[in-house]
Amino acid sequence: MQKYNFSAGPSVLPKPVVEKIKSELTSYNGTGYSIMELSHRGHDYIEVHNKTKQLVRDLLDVPENFEILFLQGGATGQFSAVPLNILSLYCKAGYVDSGQWAKKAIKEYLIYSDNIEIKESLDNYKSFPPSKDWGFSKNLDYIHVTHNETINGIEMFEDPRLSMPLIADMSSNIFSRSIDFNSFDLVYAGAQKNFGPAGLTLVIINKKLITDRPKASSIMNYKKICENDSMLNTPPTFSVYVASLVLGWIKSLGGVSTMEKNAQEKSALLYDYIDSTNFYKNSIESNSRSRMNVPFNILNDSLNNTFLSEASDNGLFELKGHRSVGGFRASIYNAMPVEGVKVLISFMKDFERKYG
Ligand SMILES: *Cc1c(COP(=O)(O)O)cnc(C)c1O
Repeated sequence: MQKYNFSAGPSVLPKPVVEKIKSELTSYNGTGYSIMELSHRGHDYIEVHNKTKQLVRDLLDVPENFEILFLQGGATGQFSAVPLNILSLYCKAGYVDSGQWAKKAIKEYLIYSDNIEIKESLDNYKSFPPSKDWGFSKNLDYIHVTHNETINGIEMFEDPRLSMPLIADMSSNIFSRSIDFNSFDLVYAGAQKNFGPAGLTLVIINKKLITDRPKASSIMNYKKICENDSMLNTPPTFSVYVASLVLGWIKSLGGVSTMEKNAQEKSALLYDYIDSTNFYKNSIESNSRSRMNVPFNILNDSLNNTFLSEASDNGLFELKGHRSVGGFRASIYNAMPVEGVKVLISFMKDFERKYG
């Protein structure tokens, strides 16, 4: 039976990528050693490192005035790296509170400054607040958004032009659509949702935001990371290597525009089905529904455990909703084939017929 993995992260990798890793695992590029065992200062790894950076630049059309940095510490590390590096003139930033990951970013920010403006959700996290409603004052060092709320299933679809730098956590939707770098000055993402294994964190940053920050620890210091071409200390070499394979796979399929088309198709299939029944429900406003993470409930929640156990009998895994919201969540990142979504819908239909 074909199995499908709907994990929110770490999540499914493209099958051809896992096969390629397997084939190169014991001897990378004829060296007789795995990539994990090679020096990060050696020719073979440097080539992988540079190739990965170039793929990021090509796939996202990153302009020349932006730097591509590889860090560690996950997106959570960036929750503090951002204020450490970017707070300056006003020592005050604005955060859009769109859900649980936004809240975590705010919590870390408050370690560094009590000075904050928060745009709260007015509808209990059923939609992404539009920029015309943010109402931030003009004297902020930056505004932070969570581009895709992985737990709540809310995505931002606006590219606002602001007078202040706009910073986005794109951990769970990067490489699933193009990014307008006229709107966003800094984007960051952990690799483990949409482009690789855990351990690598990508930062794409407008050079104008890279300034001397003598008080920021070196491994969180954008200027020092940049000056050392993301090799200030040992980079997560295996994660960078796998990311290069995933990005190469995206490129071979036609790039981010293909991922965007697929994401559109897969998410529409699932939402349309959920909306067509009285058995399942997704309560996010249709203009903010995430194309990556689809949370849903069964109205009769006493069936939850039965749903999960019958799903796994049918080869459908990791559908349990986040512990804080319950219900179910199907994460349908780039590497989830459309067949996986179709099999899920067909299972959901059968389940409804049986218990509805
Ligand atoms: C998973 C996730 C994070 C946390 O990422 P880590 O790499 O585990 O720190 C942050 N933000 C969003 C939107 C996420 O989906």
